[in-house]
Amino acid sequence: MTSQSTEKSAAAHTGAGPRTPSPDHIRRAPKVLLHDHLDGGLRPGTVVELARETGYPGLPETDPDLLGAWFRQAADSGSLERYLETFSHTVGVMQTRDALVRVAAECAEDLAEDGVVYAEVRYAPEQHLEKGLTLEEVVEAVNEGFREGERRARDNGHRIRVGALLTAMRHAARSLEIAELANRYRDLGVVGFDIAGAEAGYPPTRHLDAFEYLKRENNHFTIHAGEAFGLPSIWQALQWCGADRLGHGVRIIDDIQVHEDGSVKLGRLASYVRDKRIPLELCPSSNLQTGAADSYAAHPIGLLRRLHFRVTVNTDNRLMSHTGMSREFEHLVEAFGYTLDDMQWFSVNAMKSAFIPFDERLAMINDVIKPGYAELKSEWLFQQTASTSGSSQSDG
Ligand SMILES: [Zn+2]
Repeated sequence: MTSQSTEKSAAAHTGAGPRTPSPDHIRRAPKVLLHDHLDGGLRPGTVVELARETGYPGLPETDPDLLGAWFRQAADSGSLERYLETFSHTVGVMQTRDALVRVAAECAEDLAEDGVVYAEVRYAPEQHLEKGLTLEEVVEAVNEGFREGERRARDNGHRIRVGALLTAMRHAARSLEIAELANRYRDLGVVGFDIAGAEAGYPPTRHLDAFEYLKRENNHFTIHAGEAFGLPSIWQALQWCGADRLGHGVRIIDDIQVHEDGSVKLGRLASYVRDKRIPLELCPSSNLQTGAADSYAAHPIGLLRRLHFRVTVNTDNRLMSHTGMSREFEHLVEAFGYTLDDMQWFSVNAMKSAFIPFDERLAMINDVIKPGYAELKSEWLFQQTASTSGSSQSDG
């Protein structure tokens, strides 16, 4: 029996129960996001306006609602070509300083509105040079946007901190240059480095010089690995490249055997990932679209959470997957019956795995995340008690 089918039958017994947090609780709960692409999270209306302002031709729709639906359908289509086309449009309108500032500001604002208190948002500077910006100008524009978004969120009563991860594209040859850029802007809004793009044919070891450089500089990086491609990709990312975290890493499930009696056996690599507390940046909705899982209930996150891997919940591409952190948690609550305690566990996991310094992570956990959940849990208890005593009153 495969681990996935076991998980499916186990999930059939869970689902929403009496301790289920409401959508309002889920939205207000302090959440931490480590894997979100800037070019995958634009507001459809912004894509339309920026296309008009910057003279970008070729949007498939110019009505924001229709465009939003088009992005979702293209991402759902199962066709890699159509999926990649979605990014050609978002990246296409993000070629000027003003556009980058706006997109980054709205990103921070939208995440804050959704209850995210800390986020690491990634993008590839090399994809924003078509209209003459330099790599440095791209980074500075995005940083400016994030600071502006943080300010606007604060004015609206939300508190968020956003750090940037600079991504190099796996198929390109600029990874060392981008790694150097990440290092130069360290402590100036950039918190780490990543590589992304098609896994097949482009193993992370192609970019060893970039990773070795970052290690020598005591800098941090994550690697997209083990999304569509299996264990060799994860193994290379960890044991050859020295990744601090795994972008997705969901295929680690291939190294875990679940037997009929429910006992579980971890292979060497899965053991290593769990023993070393390697963070997995799991993105359930995105995985469903790329076929890495058939349903939320069948998603390996259920098993990995039970086995106490360092699991984190992420959005990947909010526009293409029509999602956000709250929506991801709503799906998981429905599939696995997760409670506010589970949400807190995921959020603390993510905060522990962030690339900012230890004391700042600890402060976020102790001053923001734990008090936030404590408040929600007492409110939840109060509501439960009130509704119970209300019903007993009506009985009397
Ligand atoms: Zn990603």
